[in-house]
Amino acid sequence: MPGDTRPPTVRADVLALVGLNDQEISRLSGRVAVLRRQGYSLADAEQIADRLLVRDRTGSDMRACVECARLIGRRCAGGEMVGPPHELRRCARFAARSG
Ligand code: SF4
Repeated sequence: MPGDTRPPTVRADVLALVGLNDQEISRLSGRVAVLRRQGYSLADAEQIADRLLVRDRTGSDMRACVECARLIGRRCAGGEMVGPPHELRRCARFAARSG
């Protein structure tokens, strides 16, 4: 609006990505690289990694299937329904990937 001197509103998810420290940059880059090797496009990999970073920063205990050792390709070896790659969930069968 002309004449409006208020700063633009910044979405909370964008604000959560401001001021990445070295550890976060490293983790973000690592996740993008892993996701790219899993076959996700760069845009999708960045979106998923950004969501995981926001999750880390907010201290949520939710996880994504792409972080789970039971995810083989696009299927769950634990017999659960796999969510979209960017979806965070609380799954009782989640098993963290090593490395
Ligand atoms: S066990 Fe749960 S978190 Fe892991 S891949 Fe299956 S549905 Fe996803």
